[in-house]
Amino acid sequence: MSNTFDLIVIGGGSGGVAAARRAASYGAKVALIERDRLGGTCVIRGCVPKKLMMYAGRFSHELRDAAAFGWEIAQARFDLATWQEAKTREIDRLENVYRELLDSSKVTVIAGTARLLSAESVQVDQRVLSARNILIATGSSPGRDALPGLSLAMTSDDILNLKVLPKRLGVLGGGYIGLEFASILAGMGSQVSVFFRSDLPLRGFDRALRERAAANLKLQHIQVHPNSNLQGVQVDDSGSAILCDHRSHRFDAVLNATGRHPNSRGMGLEEAGVAIQENGAIVVDAYSRSSVPGVYAIGDVTNRKNLTPVAIAEGRAFADNLFNGERRHVDHASAATAVFTTPPLGSVGLSEQDAAVVGRLRIYEAEFRPMKAAFAGAATKTYMKVIVQDSTDKVLGIHMAGEDAPEIIQSLAVAYNMGATKSDFDRTIAVHPTAAEEFMLMRMPSRVVDVAQTGRA
Ligand code: FAD
Repeated sequence: MSNTFDLIVIGGGSGGVAAARRAASYGAKVALIERDRLGGTCVIRGCVPKKLMMYAGRFSHELRDAAAFGWEIAQARFDLATWQEAKTREIDRLENVYRELLDSSKVTVIAGTARLLSAESVQVDQRVLSARNILIATGSSPGRDALPGLSLAMTSDDILNLKVLPKRLGVLGGGYIGLEFASILAGMGSQVSVFFRSDLPLRGFDRALRERAAANLKLQHIQVHPNSNLQGVQVDDSGSAILCDHRSHRFDAVLNATGRHPNSRGMGLEEAGVAIQENGAIVVDAYSRSSVPGVYAIGDVTNRKNLTPVAIAEGRAFADNLFNGERRHVDHASAATAVFTTPPLGSVGLSEQDAAVVGRLRIYEAEFRPMKAAFAGAATKTYMKVIVQDSTDKVLGIHMAGEDAPEIIQSLAVAYNMGATKSDFDRTIAVHPTAAEEFMLMRMPSRVVDVAQTGRA
């Protein structure tokens, strides 16, 4: 068994697997080391099981709406154990798919925890491997030290493996992971409260979407605690508590969704001279090169834009550059993103706050009750926003809160990345009746914003 490779990849998640397979397709001899399960965060404890859980939670809304459409549904009851069994089967199946893909790509998969010995050698248990190129794709894990007692709270890993649904759930954090699980568990029947420090959840998103996200949580009967002065978490035999603003809020369980840390510590990186930021992110340039020649890093461990498709794109660009003589880098600003709340959100491009620096903007907005919700008597609204640079007519940002927003924004991201103008939207004939057609029908701007005039940025 040879221990010498052209490339050693540490981490068999989204980015590592994509990079390893692409490198092998160019004839490189590749080893991939994984300490846990193939597929990484996304497949095993992230995007995939979360979305399967989201589907389970959504049925409560579907069942309620179904009655308005004439369906009589006998007493419906959710059984978490049934979902868990089906989810486990599906994740096992997907992990096997990943293994088969790596095998058919002729990547050597090695189970174990890797540690860098030098810029060209890696230790896995008793084995030492060498390669001229090493790629760190070790991902991230839930942070547990932002508050006293936080390590006692559940993480997203735990919530995906719940055996019993908590009657009362407290969620710490207003990021997308906190909001998604708040929404999902509320759909399954838990009473949920969300606490976060800022005035609105989803920092970094367009403010109008953040406002809609907060309003939609309330429509789901989720208690929202903005501007929270969080002091800690307590867990004892009688349950859990969030300490906030000198009060103790009691729950059956608390979810720690306060953020994730790059998996970079304790694996010999610093000793080998690899520069790491204070938050643990490996410092890389646009081509994913670390401070040590021959050592590269991609995905969450670099904390650039922590999404699966971004990790995959970074991994493929890295392999194209190294083994196919290309010079590609990933444009992080062009990546669309979604939040799978009820209803979900989708965004591509700049928020209004960030776009304001480019000059005079035309803001197009639509807000309406979609046909299905109106018919079923549901209060949920759909919100859409297109941000246009006045001088060029170029679309700078597209945002949506409403049913199917992730699917719609994904398609609009193509237009955005091609540099679409508002006139391109206007001359596109709509598909009727859809919600998405409203993006083609926004004739008049709802506002014109000019930083030079307002001084607002
Ligand atoms: P990972 O997928 O985390 O893979 C890293 C791998 O490295 C892991 O398998 C780990 O076991 C292994 N590893 C770590 N250290 C070592 C070591 N020393 N030796 C060997 N192996 C090691 N993204 C989206 O795009 N859409 C979503 O809807 C979405 N939902 C999410 C929901 C949740 C709850 C979470 C937690 C994340 C979600 N993400 C989502 C983010 C997405 O999962 C990550 O951005 C993505 O998985 C990053 O890929 P990666 O390759 O960098 O790391």
